[in-house]
Amino acid sequence: MSTPLDLPGWRHLYSGKVRDLYSPEDPSDERLLVVASDRVSAFDFALEPGIPQKGALLTALSRWWFDRLAEGSDPIPNHLVAGEIPAEVADRAMLARKLEMLPIECVVRGYLTGSGWAEYQAEGTVCGIPLPAGLQNGDRLPEPLFTPAYKAPMGEHDENITFARTEELVGAERAAQLRDVSLAVYRRAAALAAERGLILADTKFEFGVEPSTGLSAGEDGVLRLADEVLTSDSSRYWDAEAWRTGSTPAERMASFDKQIVRDWLAAHWDKQGTPPALPADVVARTAERYAELLHRLTA
Ligand code: ATP
Ligand code: MG
Repeated sequence: MSTPLDLPGWRHLYSGKVRDLYSPEDPSDERLLVVASDRVSAFDFALEPGIPQKGALLTALSRWWFDRLAEGSDPIPNHLVAGEIPAEVADRAMLARKLEMLPIECVVRGYLTGSGWAEYQAEGTVCGIPLPAGLQNGDRLPEPLFTPAYKAPMGEHDENITFARTEELVGAERAAQLRDVSLAVYRRAAALAAERGLILADTKFEFGVEPSTGLSAGEDGVLRLADEVLTSDSSRYWDAEAWRTGSTPAERMASFDKQIVRDWLAAHWDKQGTPPALPADVVARTAERYAELLHRLTA
């Protein structure tokens, strides 16, 4: 794990696999500085080396999506607040409200791939949800699916859970809200991505509420989209044209995300012990794809 930065006025609070959180030295200040590093994780493992410029690219993508989603007739509240960001991390940090995070990774899948494809081949289901027979890797699902996971504490692996378990964890009302907002945000983002020739295959949201307002939707705690949103770390993006015309899974799922890292790791590591260092060409190709996604979405 990298050493925390010395940022005047801020103290290091927590480091996740990718982001470092800092709180203001003034304890009455309820904000958080969320700094995205160049670290990359796959299968919930932090890998070496980092991907150059990744922290800045993720931050630019998150900001762009937070802004898009805050527009229009159905604005989605988010965790961003205005204020001064230390110059040293200006391109890779966001100033946020410190929220009580809900322990749910809100995954939405519009297409069948990854762990969903593996489960479908074995069981005919994705996260226990039955699907029609005959689907191929990379196919579009009949409807986008909300497939929540329990956000495990640091060092443990996230675990897929049923909707009933989600209701037990956060209450029925909040669970329904998480599902409905996640599906709505996915549909909106997928439509916008499609205008730019991109398929948003799947994505993962994290939500929080302000601590004083409590966790229940009934207690009027505004649900805010937090952490990162619709980035190439939290989502799978494919080229729409390649998906339509490709004949192999690799051709169809020409990805703008860390699939390159996942594929390399799956071929060179059995997930036991310390993962091997990523070779320079995997790092370079991943960096290129991240940059290209930002360009295609926002240019
Ligand atoms: P991964 O997301 O890859 O599973 P991780 O959860 O270990 O990794 P990071 O994403 O690197 O961690 O770290 C960000 C941490 O900050 C997460 O625990 C996330 O829930 C938390 N977080 C993000 N936004 C806020 C916010 N506004 N208030 C409080 N905590 C936040
Ligand atoms: Mg995270």
